[in-house]
Amino acid sequence: MPNPLKHHRLWLLAWALGTLLGGALVTRAELGKLQDAFDTDARIVHRLLSQQAVQHDAILQTLALLHNPDADDNPEQRLPSVYPQILSVWRSDAHNHWDDPALQRAQDDSLRLGHPALADVDTSRQRYRLELAGSGTSYALTIDVRTMVPWNDWPMDPATSPVQVTLALGEDAIVLQAGHTKPEATGGWNFFAQKTLAAPSQPFVVISLQHLGWAAVPWAGLAAASTGWTLLLLAARALLAQSQNRRRAEERLRMGQLTRLNTMGELAAGMAHELNQPLAAVLASTQAAHRMLADEPVEDMAAVRQALQQTVQQARRAADVVGRLRRTVERSNMASEAQVLNPMELTRKAVYLLEPELQRSQITPQLKWVGEPFDIHGDAVALEQILHNLLSNAVHALEQVPVGRRALEVQLQRASGQGQLTVRDSGPGIPANVLPHVFAPFFTTREDGLGLGLSLCETLAMGMGGSLTASSPASGGATFCLSLPLAPHPTPSP
Ligand code: ADP
Repeated sequence: MPNPLKHHRLWLLAWALGTLLGGALVTRAELGKLQDAFDTDARIVHRLLSQQAVQHDAILQTLALLHNPDADDNPEQRLPSVYPQILSVWRSDAHNHWDDPALQRAQDDSLRLGHPALADVDTSRQRYRLELAGSGTSYALTIDVRTMVPWNDWPMDPATSPVQVTLALGEDAIVLQAGHTKPEATGGWNFFAQKTLAAPSQPFVVISLQHLGWAAVPWAGLAAASTGWTLLLLAARALLAQSQNRRRAEERLRMGQLTRLNTMGELAAGMAHELNQPLAAVLASTQAAHRMLADEPVEDMAAVRQALQQTVQQARRAADVVGRLRRTVERSNMASEAQVLNPMELTRKAVYLLEPELQRSQITPQLKWVGEPFDIHGDAVALEQILHNLLSNAVHALEQVPVGRRALEVQLQRASGQGQLTVRDSGPGIPANVLPHVFAPFFTTREDGLGLGLSLCETLAMGMGGSLTASSPASGGATFCLSLPLAPHPTPSP
């Protein structure tokens, strides 16, 4: 049977889990997109810079190829006007001698490696020198890193991009793009990519770095996902409640039909009881008249006697019919199938069916076992009907007292070798002069009452080999105690 609090917790748990999971998925997808964009940009940056570096090698090789020792117009000095990143061109004097030790060292390196070699890196002025050793003459270029970057093809806006791009060589680092990045900031995510330039002569490592703070979390997407999930859950809940209400309505209809059917039986039993006495009286007085008429001299005595005898016969027939009807009704009550029942389960079911009335009257029934749980032996439908009637009566009684004083309790316990279900309410109670009549058919103190509910309950209880008693304790309210046979092998139930 649904426990509303546990129910709410389950829904809340589903909501929280769904929101968390949805949030994680949305955030992951958004971060994935940002990571893809970052990776693509980092790849393009590496390719562009590598192309430039390779071009520097080519320029040096072209200079070496075109070298003319006799020419004195130094054509290489025109290079800076063609390539803005080349700040100056150096040429060793004859016999490959450099006054500058860095260039001399680079020349040795270049000779050894067979390709241009780095002479030095000036991080403060963001430039480096690259040298290619020739057989007689060597050339070196001073390259300005900032101008070397092909900004027109650059995949990011250097002024606003959050990505930091650095060219690093050992301890030296030249920042190409500052990026709005705070790698030291706590929380958030860091994207990082590093790759060495594809020119062995200039083995700079291109480092791209992006820090994403909490602002990168797709809050709008999260809110949308959470709202969607909430709406979905609410719709599911409404659907569930609808189907539960429908089931409850069907069940109540069934119970109502059954009660009407049994009430008819009860009605017949009541009528039989009511009719039996007058019929017996008719029979007795007619027989007396018959005797008296037989003693006096009366004309056409034979006709009178015959008529009276017929009356007697009819009266007997009527009594027989009524008797048969009564026996039939009693048999149909006994015809129910006895089985092992969990009384708590059936009590909960009865409470569930009455939930709308209980909620309307702000009554919260307390169901409890006293001592060990037990099973009883009886007919489920009959027991359901008894509980339904007793609880309905309790609700009617409780509606007559203020809301704050409404208490309803169903207590289940073993007593005198039987299973006892006690329904106790804090209503106005049953006056002493009413108490002896409550089980009588057609007895009611309610304006719209039929007075058959308790009488039917008692019949059903007796039909199961049990009993039903009513009391109105001095402490107030009414108490109905239903005793039923215990099941042969009681199984503990929760
Ligand atoms: P009805 O409910 O149609 O009156 P019942 O046979 O169920 O018929 O009840 C008979 C009478 O017993 C009620 O009219 C009422 O006076 C009394 N009664 C039953 N249950 C309670 C109760 N919980 N508190 C007070 N009186 C009750």
